[in-house]
Amino acid sequence: MNIKKSDRLSKLPPYLFAEIDRKKAGLIKEGKDIISFGVGDPDIPTPVEIVEEMKKSVEIPAFHQYPFGRGLSAFREAVAEWYLNRFGVKLDPEKEVHALIGSKEGIGHLPIGLIDPGDVVLVPSPSYPVYGGGTTLAGGEVYYMPLKEENGFLPDIGSIPEKMRQMAKLMFINYPNNPTGAVADKSFYKRVIEFAAENEIVVASDNAYSEIFYEEKPMSFLEVEGAREVGVEFHSLSKTFNMTGWRIGFVVGNSEVVKIISDVKDNYDSGVFSAIQNTGIFALKNYEKFVEKNVKIWKRRRDVLCEGLRRCGFEVKVPKATFYVWMKVPDGFSSSEFCEKLLLKAAIVATPGSGFGSAGEGYVRFAFTISEERIEEAIERMRKIKN
Ligand SMILES: *Cc1c(COP(=O)(O)O)cnc(C)c1O
Repeated sequence: MNIKKSDRLSKLPPYLFAEIDRKKAGLIKEGKDIISFGVGDPDIPTPVEIVEEMKKSVEIPAFHQYPFGRGLSAFREAVAEWYLNRFGVKLDPEKEVHALIGSKEGIGHLPIGLIDPGDVVLVPSPSYPVYGGGTTLAGGEVYYMPLKEENGFLPDIGSIPEKMRQMAKLMFINYPNNPTGAVADKSFYKRVIEFAAENEIVVASDNAYSEIFYEEKPMSFLEVEGAREVGVEFHSLSKTFNMTGWRIGFVVGNSEVVKIISDVKDNYDSGVFSAIQNTGIFALKNYEKFVEKNVKIWKRRRDVLCEGLRRCGFEVKVPKATFYVWMKVPDGFSSSEFCEKLLLKAAIVATPGSGFGSAGEGYVRFAFTISEERIEEAIERMRKIKN
């Protein structure tokens, strides 16, 4: 039998880390000690108190059944309370909050409920691959908005062509930004809201990194007037509490968009394990102490990495948020050539910027989700190959 993938699936670019993984596997076989700045997945374990809370939650029989629906009311109330404390934004836990099996799940499902074939989705380049991938799988077309260094890695909304404004139904934005580490301010969000209202485009703001910051606390898109009329915001417990494997996140904001996500999900999944939601309540209620501890670790690593890269003679900008350093590759290299050199000569994995979209060409992303000692070891190796 000849099994043929759908056109939608065939259109997706090859998985970002596949090629690097293949080369990495070869080197590991040769006995090389690989240092990986590749995937942005915290190495720090979930706080013990959260794990303890999970142990208690898992013993409650009521949590063993299908969770269904928008999430436990207590979880949705905890999200609303967190939003009020953290951002000063009031949410209706009934209509404006929905639990997700990680924010990636909701981001991927939104275009299925919103996009018809031929509709356009505005996606930043470079960006988290799910915005474009989810659009393509929903049969939509992607218009890439380049994020340029001279614009602070914010999309230049004024340059989006008239035709695209008319065809677009959805726009993704993501600050603090993966992969560039950039942050957005109120005036940017104001422009986005104006643009969205004028052109009837739904805004999906991905705020997964709101709690990984080194200067000012990043804001929520929903803090800005008019945001709730045009869009939603995605959040995740993954990065905030080192819970990537647990799969829990949420979407908040415009009740019609939340309902669309809910209707799609009713047909795909049956919700987040209630014991995990119950543990999520505990994490959100105690977020300040967990975040404070976490940020201290990330900050030290960030400084070790940035200072080290400078010592190696690289030009590097220190990120204000996220656990990524987004660095220009040296002259004469493409993103992937530079990453290949790091891998073959120094057994270091970093992600080529071009993997996040064509506008990421010329850059490399280092995720500092490894210990300070390993970062220092990597710097030492880079210093050696530089000479
Ligand atoms: C890690 C990440 C997420 C979070 O994914 P989860 O599915 O919640 O684990 C969302 N957006 C971006 C940009 C990310 O880097």
